[in-house]
Amino acid sequence: MTDDKIEQEIAMATDDAWPDGSELSKGYALGAEARKPTALLDWSLHVDCPQCFLGNNLANCLHDTENSIAGHIFTHAWDKLEGWEVKCEGCGHEFEIDRVEYDGAYRIGKAASRRRVGP
Ligand SMILES: [Zn+2]
Repeated sequence: MTDDKIEQEIAMATDDAWPDGSELSKGYALGAEARKPTALLDWSLHVDCPQCFLGNNLANCLHDTENSIAGHIFTHAWDKLEGWEVKCEGCGHEFEIDRVEYDGAYRIGKAASRRRVGP
C-alpha cells in the first residue's frame, strides 16, 4: 500500500468519526439510553477430588442438578454445604466437602494455575 493510499484510508476512516454532529456521534447520542450495559454474573465453586485431584466445579449442572448448591451459596447459607456429597466427574470417587470458603486468589488467577479443570 502506497503512502497516498494509506492517507486516503485514514481520511476515510476518520471522516465524521468523532466531530460533534457527525453521523457516528449522533448514533452514540441517540443510543445513549439503550447503552446501559447488562452486568453478567458468572460463578463457580471448585473442589479438587481427593483421589484423582481433578478440579470439580460444583456450580456445574452435573453436580448441582436441583440448583440446591446455588441456592445455598446465594442465600449465604454456606454452612449447609458442610459435608455435601460430591461424586467426582472424572473418576467417580464419592467424597464430602468439609466447608466452603471464598477464594479471592482464584479470581486473580493465582489458584487457577494449580487447578485442573474438569471436562
Ligand atoms: Zn476424581
